[in-house]
Amino acid sequence: MRINSWSEDDRKLLVDTIAAEKDSVNFFWNCRNGRVFQLCGNLFPEDISDPFAYLSSSKFVKETSLAAFRMFCTRINNFIENGTEESLVSADFSMRFSEDENYRMCHITVVILKDSDNKAVSFYVTMRFFREKQIAERRILDNFTSDKSPEIFANHIKRMMDSNPEREIAFIQFDVERFKLINDAYGEKSGDRLLKYLKDSLTVICSDEQPFARLTADVFMIVIPFDEEIEIIDFIHKLEQNIGRIYEGIEFRLVFGVCIVEDRTAQTRTHGDNATLARQSVKGNALNNIGFYNGKLKNDLYHQHYIEDDMKSAMLNNEFVMFLQPKYNISTGKIIGAEALTRWIHPYKGLIPPAQFIPIFEKNGFILNLDQLIWEKACKTIRFWIDNGVEPVPISVNISREYLNTFDVVGKFNELVERYNIPIRFLEAEITESYDADNTSDVVRKMKNCGFTMLMDDFGSGFSSLNMLKTTPFDVLKIDRGFLSEFMESERGRKIIAHTISMSRDIGLDIIAEGVETGAQAQFLQNCGCDVAQGFYYSKPIPVEEFNRQLHEQTAERTKK
Ligand code: C2E
Ligand code: MG
Ligand code: MG
Repeated sequence: MRINSWSEDDRKLLVDTIAAEKDSVNFFWNCRNGRVFQLCGNLFPEDISDPFAYLSSSKFVKETSLAAFRMFCTRINNFIENGTEESLVSADFSMRFSEDENYRMCHITVVILKDSDNKAVSFYVTMRFFREKQIAERRILDNFTSDKSPEIFANHIKRMMDSNPEREIAFIQFDVERFKLINDAYGEKSGDRLLKYLKDSLTVICSDEQPFARLTADVFMIVIPFDEEIEIIDFIHKLEQNIGRIYEGIEFRLVFGVCIVEDRTAQTRTHGDNATLARQSVKGNALNNIGFYNGKLKNDLYHQHYIEDDMKSAMLNNEFVMFLQPKYNISTGKIIGAEALTRWIHPYKGLIPPAQFIPIFEKNGFILNLDQLIWEKACKTIRFWIDNGVEPVPISVNISREYLNTFDVVGKFNELVERYNIPIRFLEAEITESYDADNTSDVVRKMKNCGFTMLMDDFGSGFSSLNMLKTTPFDVLKIDRGFLSEFMESERGRKIIAHTISMSRDIGLDIIAEGVETGAQAQFLQNCGCDVAQGFYYSKPIPVEEFNRQLHEQTAERTKK
């Protein structure tokens, strides 16, 4: 092969060809000796030594793009001073090439030529206006820098994956929930600024090893290497914490989708698509804003992680609230007691039901803190009733079996009733039935000796109910919701319920039916001799203020009579 050297004609042909495209400016900048060669166009005066500094102080970049443009210049300077792994960067700004022109969206591509230390020695820069159609497609891009074109992003990812052969790779995608509504409500300019803010945040948060890009309107993608899956959750958490939830008065929520790469030879696009599916799987889910492609397990992992991350601050911020579910006398329809049930009012996720966090707290031990809090709230409430002339009813609180062996429950209960100076009969305790491996009988006996009423919770939901009845001296038996609804369905089942009730009465136990959802159930229970019911048919668990109101009315009615 013969390589021709450039003739003067060739050079002219090249320059003319480039110049023929009116919508672009091309220049070469030798940053070491401060020389600029304009291949076409006359954007720069003769005497400049830094074209980016010149542009950022000229009128060629529109005011609204200026902050982003300056950030871009800082980046370029950084390549000169500290070096870079990248060989090409690009961005979009609103610009013009002469002072009598209107501003238009312009795509800048910078090819970086580097020395052996990876420090930039010179740049080849192309600035090209978008065509009308491209602008229409990217309308949202105005004021906003899209950092990389898809090919560049794909190359970047590939390089990162190649240089991390031993590590796992995750594609993390996120978007702004209901971004369209934000655009409609606050205007597109605000929407654009929010997107720009998100992108700027990524620039700060993501390292060189974590390439990111904006894919479409409000969809961003970050690719990270990791060793343990928990690192993904930590990364997302860090992202959420840094970005926050409000920007310029706009409240927003990010929704994430994660795809962990299983086949490294597959196209990056495939992983991206999987991350999209994962993201869509949690759209509209109030409790969980991270979806994993192909992995319920990982969803659970995230769930546990955020619960554990937030529980301590939740306690400090009073996010755990006591609700009360009334217990009714079936014959009279009067409230005769209440069960204290925890609700977590999370600042972002809203109301979280106990099923989502109690099992986790039981595993990590935090349940003891929570239970003590609720016990105390119950005592305070009883004190409040007494002080305010409301006829009190007993409140039953739940005791977890997790700490029965290690914590002095009896001592704590005694201290509470003493401190709040309440008659002992108003504080009751529920413990779930179970195979008695953890000392339950012992604690129940001690509690009873002190005068507390003890309820066996969820009777009929496990295997050991009858055994527990034999060995443990409870006062009250709470028939489980599942047991009631399932057994009510057949004649045989109904007989079993009826006999359970009569047997319990025989051995001196009171009965409460839990989870009563229909009038028919209530009627049947009453016929069987069970006179107390708790369930949605009567009332859901309600805030204390609402319960106070009902109790107050009941007291007022009674005094009227
Ligand atoms: P539990 O002690 O058996 O409480 C009764 C549960 O049944 C409550 O669920 C209540 O809302 C629900 N329920 C009541 N009536 C009906 C009904 O008619 N239909 C249906 N479908 N459900 C009904 P919740 O509040 O979600 O609590 C679930 C469990 O979490 C409780 O079961 C209890 O074991 C535990 N829990 C709640 N708060 C605490 C707490 O402060 N400490 C401890 N250790 N456990 C708690
Ligand atoms: Mg209970
Ligand atoms: Mg129960």
